[in-house]
Amino acid sequence: MVRTLLVNLCRLVLATVFILSGLVKIIDPRGFSYKIDEYAGAAGITDFHLAHASLLFAAAVAMLEFSAGIYLFFGIRRRLTSLVTLLMMTVFAALTFWSWRWHAVSDCGCFGDVIHLTPAETFFKNVVLLLLCLPLVRHPRAQVRFISEKSQWTIGLYVWIYGAALCAYNVYMLPVMDFRPYHIGADLLRAMQPADAGDVRYTHTFIMEKDGERREFSLEDYPDSTWTFVDRRTRIEGSAKALPPIHDLSIVSPSTGIDTTEALLSSEGWKFLIVAPDLREADDGVMERLAELTDYCSHYGYPLYCLTASNEEDIRYWQDITGAEYPYLLADRTPLRTMVRSNPGLVVLKGSTVKAKFPAIGLPSETELTDRADRLALLNPDLETHLRMLLRLLLWFVGPLFILTLLDNLYRLIIHIKNKKRIMRKHIVAGNWKMNKNLQEGVALAKELKEILAAEKPNCDVIIGTPFIHLATVADLLKDSCIAVSAENCADKESGAYTGEVSAAMVKSTGAEYVILGHSERREYYHETPAILKEKVDLALANGLKVIFCIGESLAEREANKQEAVCKAELQGSVFHLSAEQWKNIVIAYEPIWAIGTGKTATAEQAEEIHAFIRKCVAEVYGEAAAQETSILYGGSCKASNAPELFGKEDIDGGLIGGASLKAPDFKGIIDAWK
Ligand code: PEP
Repeated sequence: MVRTLLVNLCRLVLATVFILSGLVKIIDPRGFSYKIDEYAGAAGITDFHLAHASLLFAAAVAMLEFSAGIYLFFGIRRRLTSLVTLLMMTVFAALTFWSWRWHAVSDCGCFGDVIHLTPAETFFKNVVLLLLCLPLVRHPRAQVRFISEKSQWTIGLYVWIYGAALCAYNVYMLPVMDFRPYHIGADLLRAMQPADAGDVRYTHTFIMEKDGERREFSLEDYPDSTWTFVDRRTRIEGSAKALPPIHDLSIVSPSTGIDTTEALLSSEGWKFLIVAPDLREADDGVMERLAELTDYCSHYGYPLYCLTASNEEDIRYWQDITGAEYPYLLADRTPLRTMVRSNPGLVVLKGSTVKAKFPAIGLPSETELTDRADRLALLNPDLETHLRMLLRLLLWFVGPLFILTLLDNLYRLIIHIKNKKRIMRKHIVAGNWKMNKNLQEGVALAKELKEILAAEKPNCDVIIGTPFIHLATVADLLKDSCIAVSAENCADKESGAYTGEVSAAMVKSTGAEYVILGHSERREYYHETPAILKEKVDLALANGLKVIFCIGESLAEREANKQEAVCKAELQGSVFHLSAEQWKNIVIAYEPIWAIGTGKTATAEQAEEIHAFIRKCVAEVYGEAAAQETSILYGGSCKASNAPELFGKEDIDGGLIGGASLKAPDFKGIIDAWK
């Protein structure tokens, strides 16, 4: 119980974190790809982005993370999902450890722009999450399913399709949710004000070229126009707390090197900024739209600039291919990439407030730019429209999942109720005296039990398995009682010269109804192989006996997580050859060898898990209806104290009891668990 609670708690925490951090990345895959570039750059891999590898990689990781979260939440492919989660957390923890120790990046990027964590914070968070993976990997089946095994594929597939569609939308359009300080409605000047301006200092370095010589200049010694601009770097110093949301935007005129940020943003009225961090890589399929935009701006007198981090050569290249006529301003690549996730993108400002943003693929056309900016809904999107769209997107995800889960669980409930009504599965408590009690003691015990159960009718079938020597007397004694008698073994030969053996026919002639076969003690001490047991089962059934067939794994097999394979092989080896008609006379007893006579009981969850698996195996061979009618007993240190919890499980139909069947009150205590 405690273990199940712990596993499910860990699983829900991990699911929440994975869903959130995956979603944040799916919403802004470009942002995440820039972060990957940053990590790659810190590792000395500089051409990662150029091959578009980082964007594809970012999308794949985002979808994997998101899907893993949803799979964890619903309990889909529990074993595989737990392993994938562990693997991902190991990689994340190692990566953030490296980033923390070797100062690779300043912000980990786990939650995009929503939550900023330092590498140290992220590393410790990842270690905690990694530890939470361990119980899941150890006990994957303890994760409660919220969706049936049959329907899990639908959800599993839908998550990937939705994730891929949303990811593609956010790559080609703009992120549906903008957590950056340049979002629509943001006042850029205000977002640039530090809490304490004195704490922050900016240093700009300009890389200029003349006659093949490259030199670095500061604002103070900016050179004359005989030098050509190549690149620019901005260093920000100050306490992290004092840093305003926008702390690295500095817009500079390429001809003078003068910082025009303040002048540009504080000017009243509308202005249009084509933001292209890298003109060499920019989408040049937008020429026509940019020309229409230029016409629109010049018609209404709106200033239009191109903000870029490119050098003069690349600016000239862009001018050549697009015939662009707007002026250029320079800024660092990082703030430009943050401003709009498109290259180029359009940012429309009124004063210093962001009014609208457009990706390259969605630049407004002349048929849309038909009036003054104030009068165009396109340039004045309202919050309500945006929220409605977000809600629609969310509903497209949550809606189908909710409906599917609801239908699946309703279906499961109906089947369960139907089965409950239909299944007349026998509840059985069977004793196995083993090699205990002489004839007189055995008869006395049988008598005592008979009297107790005559006084208080049991709510289940009761069987006692006795040594051969007791069979005839005890069977006769219990003839008209509610207790059936079972042998503990029978020979694998029909009859003949097999000194000391007792055949199935002989057992039947005593009045016994059942025989216990395949007990682990007989398998181990008397080397009864699946083939021998198969012979015994066939002979027992042929002689009109019912069989209590025992299966179960050793401790080493349980520790190697092989219990399912072992049980299935034992069934396949000795009983799955039977006809459907013969199968009606089989009762299965699952007895983990490590729990027999040791005082160690399998937990009710462990037992239920494997009982359900056994029933599934039976269903595969004899069909669902037959599986539902097969009684599967649990054996292994079952006592009056733990029987109610064990028998309370859906697939546990009673017990095969060793030690506790040797005293009538103890055995009765277990029988009472069915009350
Ligand atoms: C058994 O041997 O079948 C058995 C379940 O033994 P115990 O109840 O003593 O563990």
